[in-house]
Amino acid sequence: MFLEQPVEKLPGTSIVTIKKLKSLDLLTFDQLINYFPSRHEDFSIVSPIASLQDGEKVTISGTITAAKNDYVRRRLTIQRVSIADDTGSISATWYNQPFLIRMFMPQLNLNISGEVKFKGRLNILPKEYEVLKNPGQPTIHTSRIVPIYPEKRGLSSRTLREKIYYVLGQLDEKILPELLPVGFLKKHQLIDTATAYKNYHFPASSQLLKQSKRRLAFDELFIIQLSARLVREHWEREKVGNVLEVEKNRDRINEFIKKLPFTLTNGQKKVIKEIEEDLGKTHPMNRFLQGDVGSGKTVVAAVGAYISYLNGFQTLFMAPTEILAQQHFKTLSMLFANTSVEIGLQTSSSKDKKNADIIVGTQALITKSQSFKRAGFVVIDEQHRFGVRQRAILKEKGLNPHLLSMTATPIPRTVALTLYGELDFSVLDEMPKGRVPVKTFLVPNVKRADGYQWIQKKINEDKSQVFIICPLIEESEVETVKTAKAATKEYEHLKKNVFPKLKVGLIHGKLKSKEKDAAMDAFKKHEYDILVATSVVEVGIDVPNATIMLIEGAERYGLAQLHQLRGRVGRGSKQSYCFVFTESNTPQVLDRLSYFAQNNHGQKLAEYDLARRGPGDLYGIRQHGHDSLMVASFSDYLLIEETKKAVEEFRKSYSLKDYQSLKKRVDAFQVHQIAKD
Ligand code: ADP
Ligand code: MG
Repeated sequence: MFLEQPVEKLPGTSIVTIKKLKSLDLLTFDQLINYFPSRHEDFSIVSPIASLQDGEKVTISGTITAAKNDYVRRRLTIQRVSIADDTGSISATWYNQPFLIRMFMPQLNLNISGEVKFKGRLNILPKEYEVLKNPGQPTIHTSRIVPIYPEKRGLSSRTLREKIYYVLGQLDEKILPELLPVGFLKKHQLIDTATAYKNYHFPASSQLLKQSKRRLAFDELFIIQLSARLVREHWEREKVGNVLEVEKNRDRINEFIKKLPFTLTNGQKKVIKEIEEDLGKTHPMNRFLQGDVGSGKTVVAAVGAYISYLNGFQTLFMAPTEILAQQHFKTLSMLFANTSVEIGLQTSSSKDKKNADIIVGTQALITKSQSFKRAGFVVIDEQHRFGVRQRAILKEKGLNPHLLSMTATPIPRTVALTLYGELDFSVLDEMPKGRVPVKTFLVPNVKRADGYQWIQKKINEDKSQVFIICPLIEESEVETVKTAKAATKEYEHLKKNVFPKLKVGLIHGKLKSKEKDAAMDAFKKHEYDILVATSVVEVGIDVPNATIMLIEGAERYGLAQLHQLRGRVGRGSKQSYCFVFTESNTPQVLDRLSYFAQNNHGQKLAEYDLARRGPGDLYGIRQHGHDSLMVASFSDYLLIEETKKAVEEFRKSYSLKDYQSLKKRVDAFQVHQIAKD
């Protein structure tokens, strides 16, 4: 099996390179050819030296006439190389690569690709070079469309190119069998697998690059969606542990809804109907509900809990933190006030009513040894979806209940279609009437002092409370030591220099969870006027009297995340305000933040970022442990739809066991997913 060979088998490869490859998890030839370029550079135009134009991106091909090292000073050497062709000569300079001169022997044929610069005389800024030893030797680095790989762990694009080129050179139909049914290729206008691999790495033309990209993107989406589809089919064959009757309880459900302290929005009615339909089935529901902050997800879940109760079963209601669990406990107690439903809170400090009809707690509810045999319905709020693994944990405990996960993280439709294919997806896209939208302003830095003054006045006059959100410092992690430190510094500054007469509190992710809860509690009880915080406050916390939010360094957040932060205010009936500050003044940042200021619709904000900044800012993706896509793109709505249909078609007319290489890819994907769940 050629592609299963370990990278140690690569010819002419140093131990150091092997180590680097392995550190990138590139262990086999197969993994190597699935390490895709992040982009390509078109150096396919080869130009005679005499006809070079300033600013042109080209390849020149000539013989070396001179090459020397200039030792300028410590840590700076310059490599000066001249090459000539039939029409003229040109010089190129490299920095700090003295080994090049050892290689660039006079008279050798050399290609240089780069940008032409005219500075007194013609120069080329070399991006790539290639010594040509034999006439007609195919080029890898120059005079073609060149793949540029993500350079990590000190592994250069150049090295990767050479290694991948070698493996691709061995590919044929036997080594890399066609993944999809042949009939699919025609129908979906796809080129064959081997051609696609070869040309996505080393495109023979820009047309083939496009077709290869489409083919590989198709495969990528197809595998993700097929895998989700298989999981879904598997779940659909399962039997729910405790079967619920819905229609027999119709009158009591209606009565419960009628007695609620408000009328349901149409959105809520629609989602409740979807949930009711699921709950009446004999296989377990697995539904994911997305709804902006304040859209009223809790009551939707409460109806499900009530149905479970009417059937004599318990509901487990889980929140990400204890303080949110307490909040839910209060809300549910209010919603069920007119009923005989008993609600219990299970946290580290409260362990009563283990047999209550609704048990509210953190995730520890299902991960700890506790078991709730009577569980008919399980809700998880603001954390993540139920994945394959979590479902398995529940099953190990002898539970196979209906599951509902809820999130305020806006998820673009294309992402949901791709990543959550095994789940049923509901969207609450309507706010309860009478909500006053948060007024958002992008504030220029020169008006900072005015802003502070205005806040001071609001606090004095209306007893408003204020969140001040500090910038995210390291984007790679949501809460790092540095971010926490910066928050502490800002807190001290604000307390001492800006609001000396006010009570200011601090919360960040490096505090112990008890300390965090204490700070949040104190703010809720109005022991502070201002809470300086990092983005730890983004999830669910409810402080109705907090009506002002100030966000620093807003450009560092994705819009969806900013929206979630903003959702911390505007919970009460009073007008709320959000002030957005930024260190940046590039037009892109200002446009983006203005869009945020003018827009109150989470999904639209998420889509804006997806289209302009890619999925990195789609906060839910990282949170849910997904890698981003390698070749395909979440904004390619058409392809996502097409592959989804193709999956249906595949399940209808083909059998996976006849497509072993596809099956292998799907299995590998599932193992990877489960590990990340
Ligand atoms: P979220 O979706 O952010 O979890 P909640 O469920 O906490 O939102 O609801 C936010 C607030 O709106 C709660 O105080 C809730 O009682 C209230 N609410 C929910 N549905 C409605 C409605 N249809 N009309 C008026 N208020 C509602
Ligand atoms: Mg909520």
